[in-house]
Amino acid sequence: VFNFSPGPATLPEAVLRQAAEEMLDWHGSGMSVMEMSHRGKEFMSIHAEAESLLCELMGIPAGYKVLFLQGGAIGQNAIVPMNLIGRTGRADYVVTGDWSKKSAKEAAHFGEVRIAASSEEGGRYTRVPAQAEWQLDPKAAYVHYCANETIGGVEFFWTPQTGDVPLVADMSSNILSRPVDVARHGLIYAGAQKNMGPSGLTVVIVREDLIGHAMPITPSVFDYKIQAAADSMYNTPPTYAIYIAGLVFKHVKSLGGLAAMEAHNRAKAAVLYDFLDKSGFYSNPIQREARSLMNVPFWLKDAALDAAFLQGAQARGLVGLKGHRSVGGMRASLYNAMSIEGVQALVAYMRDFEAQHG
Ligand code: PLP
Repeated sequence: VFNFSPGPATLPEAVLRQAAEEMLDWHGSGMSVMEMSHRGKEFMSIHAEAESLLCELMGIPAGYKVLFLQGGAIGQNAIVPMNLIGRTGRADYVVTGDWSKKSAKEAAHFGEVRIAASSEEGGRYTRVPAQAEWQLDPKAAYVHYCANETIGGVEFFWTPQTGDVPLVADMSSNILSRPVDVARHGLIYAGAQKNMGPSGLTVVIVREDLIGHAMPITPSVFDYKIQAAADSMYNTPPTYAIYIAGLVFKHVKSLGGLAAMEAHNRAKAAVLYDFLDKSGFYSNPIQREARSLMNVPFWLKDAALDAAFLQGAQARGLVGLKGHRSVGGMRASLYNAMSIEGVQALVAYMRDFEAQHG
């Protein structure tokens, strides 16, 4: 099948094949990675390689720590403020969709949260607010934004300017999809289950000067200082998820790294958006400059046809297309591992469906 699910999502077949081959006996160790001690030399080498490949792919500069944690991006909605907000007691949030709205709401448990900019209009989000609209608080401990709104299909294609205030990004659904300027961020976090691997692993990339300011209530396992000092092994890390993510990183590198991913992702998204733009039957209301390369929501002219559309798609092996319940319609997620053939098959189906029902 071609799996358009928003996450957990399709993974490179080569990675899954390698994992299957190594399942019972990793590199002659006589063990599955799942059975290894996280402190043994085998797993330590897997962990170190995954971290070093991620640094290489993303160009993570010196002065940053990479943490492999648990709790997901939703966990980070609390963990980020617990670690960072204490410096001044307040933080700015930019709201561009359901995910950033949720982040702001959670952070408000830990300090004073201001909405520095929002693109919400009548409960919908179709753009990102221009930098000139941002009303930043120079005393904020950080400014948070969501680089790609997985539900709304709204993506940032520019890095916000926040002066001396550290910039924090939720990159759960677009990490590794194209190059990103890590040095302009104080902290980047992402759940792994879209472009990096299975769920259960949360990646945090944090500038070292932002470590060590956790509120006293912060659980030790979520204190960046404690986890950084323990090389993310203060608790038992999600070992198998780290192993698979390492295989994905190696695979992405073999394909040419993030510049190659960007070209691949732009080409795929263009196939679908070009079709949507020419159609009077399907629509996508997102402003062109903010259209996500990763998650493409679209609506049929008549929502009464949604069930038939999904059923027909399933029959052609096109799965995971149902839109998020909060916005309805459809959503095609085009993560790195989705092939251009998959997008072409989707468009061919959409064309046929329109011919039948339009
Ligand atoms: N943020 C974004 C942008 C997401 O897409 C998701 C999950 O889909 C989350 C946060 C929540 O991630 P998790 O369920 O891993 O906590």
